[in-house]
Amino acid sequence: SFTAAIIGRPNVGKSTLFNRLVGSKIALVDDTPGVTRDRRPGEARIGDLYFTIIDTAGLEEADPASLEGRMRAQTEMAIAEADVSLFLIDARVGVTPIDEHFAELLRRVGKPVILVANKAEGKVGEAGVMEAYSLGFGEPVALSAEHGVGMADLFAALLPFEQLEEALEDEGEGDDDVIDPSALEEEVEQVDPTRPIKVAIVGRPNAGKSTLINTMLGEDRMLTGPEAGITRDSISVDWEWQGRPIKLFDTAGMRKKARVEEKLEKLSVGDALRSIRFAEVVVLTLDVTMPFEKQDLQIADLVAREGRALVIALNKWDLIEDRQKAMAELREMAERLLPQVRGVPLVPISGLTGAGIDKLMAEVLRVYATWNRRVPTAALNRWLASVLEHHPPPAVSGRRIKLRYMTQPKARPPTFVAFCSRPEALPESYTRYLLNGLRETFKLDAVPLRLTLRKGE
Ligand code: GDP
Repeated sequence: SFTAAIIGRPNVGKSTLFNRLVGSKIALVDDTPGVTRDRRPGEARIGDLYFTIIDTAGLEEADPASLEGRMRAQTEMAIAEADVSLFLIDARVGVTPIDEHFAELLRRVGKPVILVANKAEGKVGEAGVMEAYSLGFGEPVALSAEHGVGMADLFAALLPFEQLEEALEDEGEGDDDVIDPSALEEEVEQVDPTRPIKVAIVGRPNAGKSTLINTMLGEDRMLTGPEAGITRDSISVDWEWQGRPIKLFDTAGMRKKARVEEKLEKLSVGDALRSIRFAEVVVLTLDVTMPFEKQDLQIADLVAREGRALVIALNKWDLIEDRQKAMAELREMAERLLPQVRGVPLVPISGLTGAGIDKLMAEVLRVYATWNRRVPTAALNRWLASVLEHHPPPAVSGRRIKLRYMTQPKARPPTFVAFCSRPEALPESYTRYLLNGLRETFKLDAVPLRLTLRKGE
């Protein structure tokens, strides 16, 4: 079975989670930071999932003078030993600078991370769960370790690591599928259709975002938006498209409408980034009379870096005369200028008349499904075998680099892990080749893909 480490700053509830997973009350839990903790690895269980858990809570006993150093050393050790880190934050407090510190450390190590927003029971934690997105580890698992809420979500997040172990253990036992290929369908269906899809409408000033949102909502709701100084709750608006709940985010647009004199203000990348981080799918709204300007490309790049799915709305299409020619040109530009998110749908719309909005939303749902996709381990490794046969990694410094096993521990966006004899030596061009192959073979259009190399032979 696999090993998970519990990581996080003092008092986020690491010991409480440890106790819940191990099912005993050995560790002393207290709401006071710095209370003595038991640090032995535990045999954890959620449902029928058994794994080893490393608790780093004990390092809080360190003498304050050396606390930071010890915390760091022990955390690094725990991350190194584990297959996956459970990174805890306190949903009631939100993201603190120390949390950011841990996030940075985890990012540097580059191993799989499951973000856990703990103490998320009831309404109080909701804002903190949203804020946790900003850490850049994708969707947080909202948990209450104390009340046992959210354990099913934690189970779902951890399950792939068990599947990976099984795949490794079954190696050498013939070609039997570890996972049924039909699992692909099932994974898509696991997306809960009653949960709102979070969609950010972003773009340069005057691209037509507010007009588009108003048409979607069927009323001038944006005009009654909040004054400057927007609170976290007021940047989203609930909508429904063909029975599917949608949460629309538009930070910049709302502020602008509230303060008309800011109409021509420069696009604040910070605003765009904020909506992008809240979102699962980003609709980049272009003014087709001035497409793919520098700011548009900057936004697309942010979307890729933040790991969100992307759809491009070609707005003001009603102004275009030779539509066929325009479309061909726009396609060519997208391929050339946005290599980091290949296959992005370009949907002509008119926010003014509403034309094309249904097609736009259909594409939003499609890329959302892709973003949630999980490629079964068996299919992945069959693909890898054929890649290695036809186009193996090059030799570096006279030694061949071996690549074995792949798995996708995580979706949202699709994140792959490959085991490599010398991860540091594998050329970037080969990693890119693998990602392009994954994208093509498994039809992963319009979403950024991640590939982590881990040492293993
Ligand atoms: P925002 O800054 O992105 O929110 O842009 P607005 O929604 O305020 O729109 C900027 C301008 O473009 C306004 O004058 C709109 O009337 C115009 N506009 C928006 N969408 C369309 C469209 O689909 N067709 C045309 N012809 N004009 C549009």
